[in-house]
Amino acid sequence: MEKWDELIDWRRRYESEGTFFIDQLKARGVKRVLDVATGTGFHSVRLVQEGFDTVSADGSQEMLRKAFENGFAYGQYVLKVVQADWRYLNRDVHGEFDAVICLGNSFTHLFSERDRRKALAEFYAMLKHDGVLIIDQRNYDSILDDGFSSTHSYYYCGEEVTAEPEYVDEGLARFRYRFPDGSEYALNMFPLRKNYMRRLMREVGFQRVDTFGDFQKTYHEADPDFFIHVAEKT
Ligand code: SAM
Repeated sequence: MEKWDELIDWRRRYESEGTFFIDQLKARGVKRVLDVATGTGFHSVRLVQEGFDTVSADGSQEMLRKAFENGFAYGQYVLKVVQADWRYLNRDVHGEFDAVICLGNSFTHLFSERDRRKALAEFYAMLKHDGVLIIDQRNYDSILDDGFSSTHSYYYCGEEVTAEPEYVDEGLARFRYRFPDGSEYALNMFPLRKNYMRRLMREVGFQRVDTFGDFQKTYHEADPDFFIHVAEKT
């Protein structure tokens, strides 16, 4: 049942994000992709389905087990999974990749700047000389500056799941997630500001960083729920 629910949710995510990531990767002639935040496997499965040679990494063995099961349930895909912490990625994942993806507002789980720099440097080092990093984040600027406007996350949660900030300052964003069955839980995240993220990526060596708002090139600064950064190595 849990798996089935997850896969139903996947259909909604497919619809909301369309072909954005696939188009970005194909436009750059990407063949080999490292998904560093596999989670339950949504993007990894999508990539395999589209014919990308994909390695699915995550720090959590439990998540990788779910991803593997989901891949098989979804299309009998056999994901190549590897347990790896972003901060030691090059130790545990071998080979070079045309693209690294870190999606689903995952980078927000790092709470120290040192860890963020280390993780980005590890992503950079996994890439070929002309590789690309695609990393997304919730729009924390609008939450920090204007209060919280969105009642649902753009594509991570199902429609019935609400995510509301309980506490927000420059060092912590605590969200409360409420599910249709009445259950709820709180999650602590680091509120990444958009320009801070862009600066960090440039400082570890990415030459060009394009930022999209909710999959669009142009956006009003406060509008999007999510930002997607596309960072090129050359
Ligand atoms: N990309 C997936 C999605 O969009 O459905 C999953 C996103 S989930 C919010 C974040 C994932 O990042 C979790 O599976 C977690 O285990 C992983 N993660 C968090 N910190 C990590 C770290 N330091 N190293 C490796 N994985 C990490």
